Parts: sequence; structure tokens; C-alpha cells
Amino acid sequence: MSVIRVTVWNEFLHERTNAAIAAVYPEGIHGAIAAFLNREADIRCEGVTLDMPEQGLSDELLQRTDVLIWWGHALHEAVSDETVRRVARHVHAGMGLIALHSAHGSKVMRALMGTPMTLSWRHGDSEKLWCVLPAHPIARGVPRCIEIPEEEMYGEPFAIPNPDEVVFIGGFRGGEVFRSGVTFTRGYGRIFYFQPGHEEAPVYRQPEIQRIIVNAVRWACPALRLPEPEGNIHCV
Ligand code: ZN
Repeated sequence: MSVIRVTVWNEFLHERTNAAIAAVYPEGIHGAIAAFLNREADIRCEGVTLDMPEQGLSDELLQRTDVLIWWGHALHEAVSDETVRRVARHVHAGMGLIALHSAHGSKVMRALMGTPMTLSWRHGDSEKLWCVLPAHPIARGVPRCIEIPEEEMYGEPFAIPNPDEVVFIGGFRGGEVFRSGVTFTRGYGRIFYFQPGHEEAPVYRQPEIQRIIVNAVRWACPALRLPEPEGNIHCV
């Protein structure tokens, strides 16, 4: 069996500065995500953080990463333009990217999408996550509706380019709706944006949420990866 190599990147700020969030994710959000991904026989996941050399994302690591998962919130601007360019180059060459929750506003997503990525939001809500494309690979084995007891409200309008597919729509107590699970293609890379995962609630411990992220990893794993991120494909 071929193994999918996943890197989960986390800015790793709230879990070290807020005791309530540290209690939810003592191992860091990256540690929690890596733990459930590493339970899958065909996935090997390692966690990296912003404070590591090269902001955790060396060219060598990205070269051997099939799918990169991104969790960022308060430190988007601390990510260097050089890191953003490096990540975008690898996405264009085929690396998959899964952007979680507040990663919608990351420099990496803004660079790849080319739109402001703004949305409306409200702290302290609950969510019903509706699967609207049940035949999609990311929805495999996922219930039609998932209840998330505590989640931040993210609402439309969501300033994204038209996505390739809308797989999930979130509904919130105030009546707001949101395109909570959307796919894009940039170059040869597949991208999935997935809204759940506010840091104050144990959303990534919910089995249905884990199922969606596992499915997304398998979906985003490249069928084609250019050996040189900026090179051309030579056809015979
Ligand atoms: Zn949040």
C-alpha cells in the first residue's frame, strides 16, 4: 500500500497562551489532527509549527509532502512572503492543501484564491453541517447532517472565487448559512477549505469531523506531482 505523507502546520499560539484552549488541545491542534490521521494505515502525518526553522515548512519537507493541512488564526501576517511563495509553488506542482477554519484568511489561501476571503462571523454559536454532495469522495461515510454543539458562526457572503464544488453547507442559530466545505484546483493541486474547528471547542475530536478530514486527505493526494515545482511537463 502506498502511504500518503501529510504535514499539518499550526501557528501554535492559542494553545500556549490561553489556558482554556490549552485544556482543549494540550498536544496542540496539530498534535490532535496528526493523532487521528496516524490511526489510518495509509496515512503518515507529522506536525510542524510557525516557530520552527523556515517557519516549519522547508522546501525539502514540502517536496515529500503529499497533502499540507493549515491551521492559522492570529499570526497570519507572521508568515513570510517567502514561505507563502514556497507553499503556493508546491500546490501548483500538485501538493494537496486543506485549509481549516480561520485559515480562510491565511496569506497562503489569499495568494492562491486571489480574493479577500472575508466573511461574516459571530462568536459563540452552534452549527448544523449539511452534506450537499453525498456522492463526493470527501463525503464518504459522512452523515447527511452533523451537529457541532459549539462552533463560531461563519456566514455568507464569503469572498471566495466560485469553488469547483460545494460539499458542505453550515447552518447557524441566527439563520446564517455558509459554504463550509468547498473545493478548488490551482495548477495541479487540489484544495479543500473546511470551516469547522474553532479553537475553543473540541471540534477536531468529533469522529464525523475526523472522517471528513481523513477523506479530504485521500481526495487531495496528488495523482500527478511535478518533480520541479516551477518546471514544465515534458510530453513524449
Ligand atoms: Zn475561530
